[in-house]
Amino acid sequence: MSKVATRFAPSPTGPLHIGGVRTALFNWLFAKNKGGDFLLRIEDTDKERSKKEYQNQIIQSLKWIGIDYDSDEYIQSTKISGHVKIVAELLKKGNAYKCYCSNEEIEEQKKRAKQKKIPYIYDRKWRDKNENEAPKNIKPVIRFKSKIDGKSKLKDLVQGDVEIDNNTIEDFVILRNDGTPTYNLSVTVDDHEMNVTHIIRGDDHKINTFKQMQIYEAMNWDLPKFAHIPLIHTKEGKKLSKRDKDSTLDDYSKIGIMPEALRNYLLRLGWSFQDKEIFNLEESIKHFNLEGIGKSPSKLDLNRILSMNEYYIKNMKEDNLFDQLKEFCENYKEKILPEKEDQVKKSLIFLKNKAKTLEDIFNNLKYLLSDEINFNDEDLKLIDSTSKGIIAEFKSKIKDISKFDRESLEPLINELIKTNNTNFKGVGQPLRIALTGSKYGPGIYDIIVSLGKDEVLKRLGNKIFI
Ligand code: GLU
Repeated sequence: MSKVATRFAPSPTGPLHIGGVRTALFNWLFAKNKGGDFLLRIEDTDKERSKKEYQNQIIQSLKWIGIDYDSDEYIQSTKISGHVKIVAELLKKGNAYKCYCSNEEIEEQKKRAKQKKIPYIYDRKWRDKNENEAPKNIKPVIRFKSKIDGKSKLKDLVQGDVEIDNNTIEDFVILRNDGTPTYNLSVTVDDHEMNVTHIIRGDDHKINTFKQMQIYEAMNWDLPKFAHIPLIHTKEGKKLSKRDKDSTLDDYSKIGIMPEALRNYLLRLGWSFQDKEIFNLEESIKHFNLEGIGKSPSKLDLNRILSMNEYYIKNMKEDNLFDQLKEFCENYKEKILPEKEDQVKKSLIFLKNKAKTLEDIFNNLKYLLSDEINFNDEDLKLIDSTSKGIIAEFKSKIKDISKFDRESLEPLINELIKTNNTNFKGVGQPLRIALTGSKYGPGIYDIIVSLGKDEVLKRLGNKIFI
């Protein structure tokens, strides 16, 4: 058998959809598992809707999630003349014909089908008509001569055998009257040219597959294997569309979901291997197979994405986590200043235990990133005269301690609790507000130690606490 080759064929008409990312991931893992190639084809033939900016964004998104492709991108719009040649060949071989129906005629037929509540199928008017009868003022489209009788069978690697009546597939257009080939024709020619052996794509392409199979047969080309993956649904059970919230990859990267976590989540969305949940990259490649893909649609669940991300944050080495955080802050928040990097890195040891996203880490980290504190007005009101007293006492107590760690701070705090006849919150809360601007955030010892003595003294010295 020839070397396995899969492909991902997005149309650059918008940012990469989460369903598309999963399709790309499955194709990529399948190819890597088989030691084959994974190819990227940009289907940019819809001139009006395709944009270079989306193409770049798609490439960038694949890179972000760790999917790399073999060979250069295959740009469909540069291959049109080859597609048109195949149309001519099909015409010559008698597998296609010119259809001179006017737009009005087709529209009329569609209207009638709608009235009768039956699916519209072109009536094959020109299939056997003599071209001498062709009207002079109409430029024809070219239609594929589909099978009329019998049934066709697709041996789908996910869905099993799928059979349809041939007469449900109309004589579909393969060349428009402006001379441009249609999707079904171009895709088939390209997949053949690229030596694609396995076509793994969404369920919604199944009918197209039956059309494309007929082109392979007419051209005497080897038929690739097909696998149709059930679509992703929303939590409410609707088909996920581009208009849905949280449907693009960017929706996740911008809230600080990490690529490893999203990749693991998408792998498990509609695919399983024993009862394993966590797959590192190597394991994903090793275990991926088409048998593990389920037959029913899977539901996108943000809570599961968040808990997967939380798991990855907790279990990641701080250095690696810092790199991801740095990139996230640079892209979506504010740059971490070089002089703050060490402090931030050290703080990740405790920050990573309280975060579901990189955004959570950033929010809990704000007190460290800038020397200027943004006070929450409501919280500031909680600093009454007792709190001010506690702040002053704490300040004088730490002035003379030589070590500035949790062990040396604990007795001081306990003493303050006792002398002020209060509890841990009574001391911790004013200190936290004074040091970070908010009553929420990391544990008080973590805040104090991470800031360091000088900075703590400086912050507590603010005249609003005197
Ligand atoms: N450009 C098509 C799409 O985005 C690709 C379909 C296919 O994989 O053949 O749906």
